[in-house]
Amino acid sequence: MGEDAPSFLQITNVSKRFNTFEALRGVNLSIQKGEIFSLLGGSGCGKTTLLRILAGFEAPTTGGVVLDGQDLAGIAPWDRPIHMMFQSYALFPHMTVEQNVGYGLKHENKSEAERKDRVRAMLELVQLTPFVGRKPHQISGGQRQRVALARALAREPKLLLLDEPLGALDKKLREQTQFELMNIQARTGITFIVVTHDQEEAMTLSDRIAVMDKGEIKQVGTPTEIYEFPKSKFIASFIGSITTFPARVLSPGQDETTVEAEAFGGNITARSIEGLRKGQELTLALRPEKIVIAKTKPKTANVFAGEVKDLAYFGKDSLYRIQLASGQLLAVHAVNSQRAGEAERAANWGEKVWIGFEPPSAILLTE
Ligand code: ATP
Repeated sequence: MGEDAPSFLQITNVSKRFNTFEALRGVNLSIQKGEIFSLLGGSGCGKTTLLRILAGFEAPTTGGVVLDGQDLAGIAPWDRPIHMMFQSYALFPHMTVEQNVGYGLKHENKSEAERKDRVRAMLELVQLTPFVGRKPHQISGGQRQRVALARALAREPKLLLLDEPLGALDKKLREQTQFELMNIQARTGITFIVVTHDQEEAMTLSDRIAVMDKGEIKQVGTPTEIYEFPKSKFIASFIGSITTFPARVLSPGQDETTVEAEAFGGNITARSIEGLRKGQELTLALRPEKIVIAKTKPKTANVFAGEVKDLAYFGKDSLYRIQLASGQLLAVHAVNSQRAGEAERAANWGEKVWIGFEPPSAILLTE
């Protein structure tokens, strides 16, 4: 789709002020039909406020929202083709699963039989058919989540807003439910906007993510773009772990740029970014899992000597802290692909080792 093609949901220059406090500042987003789009950010960054503006519970101070060609300004929440699924699920405790799912259809111009069919189809979609007669307190947390989802989908919204949809579930159930949610989204084709503060959840669930901070969108991209091509130190350290070092540009190039970083006591070849000039001060960032650690010198473009200062063994992997020539520490993450006893560890405490990484793993950041 071209840059100028109208998107399914267009959020233009949306700001929100509560008295003197600016909860949202100049938010612009284009979301396509059928996307799972996540708003990710720490507490208070404004993600729920943006969701509430989409739902119609708040009006923006400036800017507007257009959904599928319809300007939503002044349209009441119940008249919008949008459904919001709350973190608490907001199920009616005295109603059965079936009645809860059918509740939203009450005011629709449908026959009793049509409504029943729709409820049945939704319950099947979320695999709750055996529980139709139960009340919310007689089912598990994961099942309650699915009731809320079925109720939301029953009304066939153009847009489904999900506020921390997995927040009330424990870790194991979250993982399983995440996949169910993706599966159901794919089958219905409904556009989902998910609010979450959990970066892993956003990474696995989303087609695209908008990372927010202090009421602003800091970067929008696919999970891979956000992780591999962060635009700023904020984004790089917000998603996953990363070690950063001050560096200076020696020779900027088209694909690769050489920088010097005191921490390493030498030069590093990194993936280039646009607009670099010789002598420019910037940040070099390295993710722990992109670095190899070895006792014999690796054949990577960047190789440095170091010493193991710390080692944490987690079973499937280990985290090393390697002291560089300058005394600074670099985190290195190695997968333990061989069983203990079968082979030696990559390195032990106090051991002299080599670390190596390729230019695409060396991230340069100017913001
Ligand atoms: P969390 O993950 O903690 O829910 P969030 O990113 O969803 O955070 P919001 O609920 O959007 O954050 O709130 C953003 C900021 O706006 C917060 O500082 C909050 O205190 C403020 N805020 C939200 N609603 C109001 C209101 N009605 N009146 C005044 N301030 C508000």
